[in-house]
Amino acid sequence: MKITKLEAIPLRVKQVDATANDGAQETIIVKVHTDAGITGLGEVDASPHMIKAALEAPSSHNWSLGFQDLLIGENPLDVERLWDKMYQGTIYTGRRGLIIHAIGAVDLALWDIAGQALGRPVFELLGGPRRDTVVPYASVHPPLSSLSETERRTQELIEAVLKMGYRAVKLQLVYGDVYTDADLVRLVKMARRILGEEITFMIDVGYRWLDSKAAIWTLERLEECNLYLVETPLRMDDLDGHARLAEAVTTRIAGAELLASRFEAIDLMDRGKVDVIQPDIGRAGGLTESLRIARLADHRGLLCTPHGWKSGLTVAAEIHFSAAASNVPFIEFMVPELWPSVIRRELVSPEFTPKNGVIELPKTPGLGVQLNEEVVRRLQ
Ligand SMILES: [Mg+2]
Repeated sequence: MKITKLEAIPLRVKQVDATANDGAQETIIVKVHTDAGITGLGEVDASPHMIKAALEAPSSHNWSLGFQDLLIGENPLDVERLWDKMYQGTIYTGRRGLIIHAIGAVDLALWDIAGQALGRPVFELLGGPRRDTVVPYASVHPPLSSLSETERRTQELIEAVLKMGYRAVKLQLVYGDVYTDADLVRLVKMARRILGEEITFMIDVGYRWLDSKAAIWTLERLEECNLYLVETPLRMDDLDGHARLAEAVTTRIAGAELLASRFEAIDLMDRGKVDVIQPDIGRAGGLTESLRIARLADHRGLLCTPHGWKSGLTVAAEIHFSAAASNVPFIEFMVPELWPSVIRRELVSPEFTPKNGVIELPKTPGLGVQLNEEVVRRLQ
């Protein structure tokens, strides 16, 4: 089997609100075609038109090769070798950032091809299942217009996901300059009271604090809430601040959604001392690179929970990832019923719907999802 063609398809809802904190208003689907008639699907959470440009650029020289030249004619089953070939072949313009994200989208499509070609779900090719079901945590995102509105919506959203049966919830209080740290403490305590003691509770504060002292002040006051983790407390590049914070509090410190490649993840784990590493599967460099990150975390006795904020294709990647990695107890899950974007709700079928708070492992070959072509046509 040989790769014959690479296709990058940006999709965008009609009315994009660029001020909204909603990454599911657009996406990019990458199709890798083969001479066996099998097509693999990939997706990545990065600027769709920039990814398209990266994937379509011609070769410049031997350290800056185009993806078409790197991939066409290759055997798509050589997934890990092709990852290394793409990384080395783009190293002059790549190494981190956008090119790693582009590699990530291609990597997902290659795993999808491999699964389809062998008639097996991707997690079986990644080493086999480590669990019977995958546990999604419901990412709950109240608006930040005013403190009272944030409180009201937090309560409504938590009650909604409890009713749906979720066992783990993450409250996203991101970019919140509408409330003080003392307000945040009250808000999180209120959320814990509504959730009860049994539900796993996480918070994401979206790089809120400028220094570790402010984060320590707040998290010490939240000890009684038994938070499973606090995500992105400090600016991403403040690695030493992360280390000071992680050493000062008992709550797990988490982050990594912005990172590209295991090399950045190693810095966040070893210098930043985080307890939970949270690669976005596409952005980090695909399933190949995210599994490398999960294993590096496992060797350090750390947990890994993927970030995921796109279509059901990214959800599928998260499911196969959690199924195959021993230290991935949860996946991020944007609850479709609470999300306005058609990309999150309808781009692929089947959409994975949790039952009793868990998702069964898929049995279909590959990543196990098809594009809803009618939605693709509408959003191009
Ligand atoms: Mg986040």
